[in-house]
Amino acid sequence: MRLDSPTIQDALQWARSELTCSDSASLDARVLLCHCLQVSAVYLHTWPEKLLDENTWQQFQDLIRKRVQGLPVAHLTGTRDFWTLSLTVNEHTLIPRPETELLVETALSLFDDTPIDALDLGTGTGAIALALASERQSWTVTGVDRIDQSVELARLNARQNNLEQVRFFASNWFDAIDQHRYSLIISNPPYVEPHSPYLTQGDVRFEPLSALTAEDQGLADLRKIISQASQYLVDSGWLLLEHGHAQGQAVRDLMQQAGFMGSNTLKDLAGLDRVTLGQWPDMV
Ligand code: GLN
Repeated sequence: MRLDSPTIQDALQWARSELTCSDSASLDARVLLCHCLQVSAVYLHTWPEKLLDENTWQQFQDLIRKRVQGLPVAHLTGTRDFWTLSLTVNEHTLIPRPETELLVETALSLFDDTPIDALDLGTGTGAIALALASERQSWTVTGVDRIDQSVELARLNARQNNLEQVRFFASNWFDAIDQHRYSLIISNPPYVEPHSPYLTQGDVRFEPLSALTAEDQGLADLRKIISQASQYLVDSGWLLLEHGHAQGQAVRDLMQQAGFMGSNTLKDLAGLDRVTLGQWPDMV
């Protein structure tokens, strides 16, 4: 199809026909066109006959070609929505996933607006820490990440979402945490098995392995966090972890061995085991 000056509708149709490799072709096309036009999705529905100017059309074609090569939409737009926030993303860390909102929801269901200290380990974009802070103004939320560029990114996201009360600093899990105790420790650590065929498909090919994979069948970082968490939790404090759909039993076992009470696994919207929580006992 030769298009010199296409309408919104024509451009979307062209993009869908190019994106045969994507299982979300329509959505990808809409998100990328919204990005080029700097408008919301409603605009595309309202003005399907509107003509694109030449620059916008060039930019859109360029993005669609990159998407055809496999680049994640979030890397092409530089943003991803998570919870109620719009987050800047880049190649240094994981693109926030919808299933991780289950961690946020679970944490919010455990604690009300009473002031507590919460710690997000391996914060990446800052998604979890910032979502918690956006819902609980009285909490003191800290996010740490081993990668300096992630810490900078999380700080940028805090500024962009007016959540500058959240403190971010570099730490490899608990290594740089002083002897502080938290009521909540939460994490979405790397948990994919290093040789998983999953890593050769889709968006994950463009994400850093450091954010995705862990030795010991994906359990190495989960194991490390679980074994150290009790030194940083108050009595009755909670540990909440995201993990792979086949790791629920292993994570519950690790929590139990470490002395946590009543560990429990929750399923994500796809019906897959995704989050396990455990409570550190009250020693008195
Ligand atoms: N949930 C991610 C995925 O499915 C994996 C990231 C992680 O290990 N936390 O790609």
